[in-house]
Amino acid sequence: MSRNEMGGQVITHTGGCHCGRVRFEVVAPTKLQVSECNCSICSKAGYLHLIVPADRFRLLAGSDRLTSYSFNTHTAKHLFCSTCGIKSFYVPRSHPDGFSVNARCLDPGTVEELSIRQSNGREWEMLYPAGRGEYTP
Ligand SMILES: [Zn+2]
Repeated sequence: MSRNEMGGQVITHTGGCHCGRVRFEVVAPTKLQVSECNCSICSKAGYLHLIVPADRFRLLAGSDRLTSYSFNTHTAKHLFCSTCGIKSFYVPRSHPDGFSVNARCLDPGTVEELSIRQSNGREWEMLYPAGRGEYTP
């Protein structure tokens, strides 16, 4: 375990889809900063983004259950469980080399604090003028 100035202790959280076939672990602070995006797909799903580099995410189970959906630029790979339909993580357009975990799909017990900021994904090109986002520590 290590300390993160802003977010408390950095630990391994676990989570998954509703039926439990898709399971993952993600290394992140106990005090999470997540974003709520207003784009066409996130607003309908109520998705809360916890974006991490690929080496902080590990799929534990369910790779054979994941179905991928894409649209527009087809950069983002919207992954959801083919059994229960829940999108517990995916590969976002802003961070195609990482993952966005749905903070709503983390198991209870390890998140101390959840602060939500609004993200204007509806105007994606303005939000990410460089064509992608950075990782926050
Ligand atoms: Zn499922």
